[in-house]
Amino acid sequence: MRQSSVVIDSKLPQVGTTIFTVMSKLAADCGAINLSQGFPDFQADSSLFDATARAMREGRNQYPPMAGVPELRSAIADKVAALYGASYDADSEITVTAGATQAIFTAIAAFVRAGDEVIIFEPVYDSYVPAIETVGGKAVYAALGFPDYRPDWQQVRSLIGPQTRMILINSPHNPTGSLLAADDLDQLAALTRDTDIVVLSDEVYEHIVFDGVQHQSVAAHPELAARGIVVSSFGKTYHITGWKVGYVLGAAALMAEFRKVHQFNVFTVNTPCQLGIAEYMCDASRHLGLAAFYAGKREYFRSQLQGSRFELLPCRGSYFQLARYGAISDLPDREFARWLTCEAGVAAIPVSAFHHDGRDERVVRFCFAKQEATLAAAGERLRAL
Ligand code: PMP
Ligand code: GLN
Repeated sequence: MRQSSVVIDSKLPQVGTTIFTVMSKLAADCGAINLSQGFPDFQADSSLFDATARAMREGRNQYPPMAGVPELRSAIADKVAALYGASYDADSEITVTAGATQAIFTAIAAFVRAGDEVIIFEPVYDSYVPAIETVGGKAVYAALGFPDYRPDWQQVRSLIGPQTRMILINSPHNPTGSLLAADDLDQLAALTRDTDIVVLSDEVYEHIVFDGVQHQSVAAHPELAARGIVVSSFGKTYHITGWKVGYVLGAAALMAEFRKVHQFNVFTVNTPCQLGIAEYMCDASRHLGLAAFYAGKREYFRSQLQGSRFELLPCRGSYFQLARYGAISDLPDREFARWLTCEAGVAAIPVSAFHHDGRDERVVRFCFAKQEATLAAAGERLRAL
């Protein structure tokens, strides 16, 4: 091991390794069934691989245009128009990113200056606060109520001030599986009216919304769309989290700022994967069928936990199921998740990891984006507790 003589004044003194990496490693070390980090354990469609491999063989292996290949931007524009009735210009209002994480980081870096405040909702996805703090911004915490995880717009109103530069929302929500309703977006629009607040909307689970409910996209809300950057990820939609391809939508003036940073952050994104996805996504049934596909997995996993001592919270969207474990153990959730992984053989995420103050409601998160055999094997272990 090399010693460094540099004294580091860390920009992120509180940050360690992400909980997803920690729990997936622990699952591997303990030989546990991994329902912690959110990724499918089944294969994506081979026609997606065929389209991507064909692009490689046809020599499409050099830098694509900075904003993404035109084929993909135009397929995204068509999808968004069909789903949300919103017309985004493929040249000036859509940018392909290296996944949603980069999109979120780049949007924050483009709009948030040192000292600016960004309102976020807790429990909060783990990449948001480090991104804000890396650029010198300040995270301001709004609470999602427990256990229904609804925003309190009165509280948000009280948090908005002259330093507020951005409000970051996420629906369907990770880790809670809650959704924002049309009325929530109306309230957010009213609160931000006549301000210069940018609304960054993380919609990576846009196609995984259950029980016949419509996803409420910022793209479909004209007033919010005018101040919005909407983020999505093909990793979630096409079962390819490792490809790291996503996109952002936004009004041309906002997108121009986004691209100023994007071009020096990643410049651009893997060409053949973009072309493969562009061809694949032209069949809309592939994203439109996702809700029914994951509704089946949600039902299957929930039925596996029937008769267990876990108390399941509602899951209205995403591929995560929260569960209270108070009837099984008094341990704090991080310790419980470790015990569950190494002693019971099923890895989960402790939800306190999504709270800056470590608030612990004794809830863990399971990912049900898994084959039935995986969910059945986990269910057997979880019912035995
Ligand atoms: N936002 C949320 C809410 C997520 O759950 C994830 C990944 N699971 C991301 C962003 C990051 O997506 P990507 O893998 O495309 O970077
Ligand atoms: N977003 C995924 C999850 O919630 C994990 C992504 C990651 O590991 N950074 O589990």
